[in-house]
Amino acid sequence: MEFNLSAESKLMIKAARDFAEQTIEPIAAKIDGDDAIPDDLLPKFAKAKMLGMMIPKEYGGTGSTALNMILITEELAKTASAVYWSMALNNSVAETICHWGSDDQKELFIPPLCDGSNYAAMAFTEPATGSDPAAITSTAHSDDDYYVLNGTKRFITNGQRKGYGIFYAKDETEKVTAFVVDKSSDGYTCSKPWALMGLGGQGLVDVFLKNVRVPKANILGEKGKGFNVLLRWIAGERVQQMAFMLGMGQACLEESLKYAKERIVKGRPMTHMQGFQWMLSEMHASIEACRWWTYRVASKQDEGDEIQVDSAALKLFIVPTIQEVARKALQIHGSYGYCKNYKIERLYRTIAHAGVTGSSTEIQKTLVGSYLARP
Ligand SMILES: Cc1cc2nc3c(=O)[nH]c(=O)nc-3n(C[C@H](O)[C@H](O)[C@H](O)COP(=O)(O)OP(=O)(O)OC[C@H]3O[C@@H](n4cnc5c(N)ncnc54)[C@H](O)[C@@H]3O)c2cc1C
Repeated sequence: MEFNLSAESKLMIKAARDFAEQTIEPIAAKIDGDDAIPDDLLPKFAKAKMLGMMIPKEYGGTGSTALNMILITEELAKTASAVYWSMALNNSVAETICHWGSDDQKELFIPPLCDGSNYAAMAFTEPATGSDPAAITSTAHSDDDYYVLNGTKRFITNGQRKGYGIFYAKDETEKVTAFVVDKSSDGYTCSKPWALMGLGGQGLVDVFLKNVRVPKANILGEKGKGFNVLLRWIAGERVQQMAFMLGMGQACLEESLKYAKERIVKGRPMTHMQGFQWMLSEMHASIEACRWWTYRVASKQDEGDEIQVDSAALKLFIVPTIQEVARKALQIHGSYGYCKNYKIERLYRTIAHAGVTGSSTEIQKTLVGSYLARP
């Protein structure tokens, strides 16, 4: 088993760290506060070769690996900024189209996601369902060479930003089909963004589909087999989300160490007190465990293994573990940690998201438990 990172991976980590520190960190608090991402950021990710990570070069990608995507995620996550999710969605949606799409779909939809000119979206949640995609009520009716889509999608990241999204709707057979939808189509409208606890700038909107005509050529994968597209995407997205948590956990530790070394308690820096040393050591050990398991699951993905259960177990472990790391970090900062002047405040709020998005912690328990209990 290989535990050493390649020279290429180390270079990518360094590039992502520089990008995070120079391009995102200086504006991260403003993005969060203004709830808006500057338009030029996604093209900057493209220029830094962080879009199209798992896409062949012929479609504008870099032909890299799932593990490298995880490694750069960890660095970008240290900013605790929602901009990561625009970059991640462009990567994961492009990879999904590359996996399931026809040659025509790949040529049409992937390059604009790799060059940062378009924003991807993935739309499955609806007002009446998030955890149970089988309960989707959006419909797709056949009409000549088109499907006509109707319904409401809830909490769609980048639903309102220019580009393409993968939308799920029930066709005339009541089965769920995945469609690539142009977000500038007639009949496609959005709500104002939801005001979130963290992740300011995420651009989370409801999308209203009213007689949106989608060419039949835009069906992704097989008609009626949309769940296969969705479940495969969610498994990969879970690993990326856990790398995002891991990077934020590492930032919590770094911020805590910086603070504790400077803060004088009883005439000495806090780091001299055993209680705080213990908290810091527990944070470090937790983060290391999260790190190596995340790398392992990403490596399995690169080896072509099935990661549905691994990614669910990973999420089950990492969400509470990193949330506890964030709690300790806030405690170490005392009341300063509760103030927006300190980065730990943003980290704490952002870290709260992971148990209820993508698919919730409880759903991971059901997934892993039913796998273990299989006959
Ligand atoms: C920042 C953010 C970004 C998002 N981006 C997107 C996006 O781009 N696209 C998209 O489609 N959605 C997106 N979502 C929506 C998100 O994925 C869903 O909200 C999530 O899947 C949970 O669905 P729900 O809110 O309807 O919760 P519900 O499904 O109503 O669940 C509520 C509670 O019940 C529990 N529960 C539900 N069913 C079961 C069960 N069978 N067994 C045990 N417990 C259960 C859940 O774990 C949860 O605790 C986003 C949400 C956020 C906050």
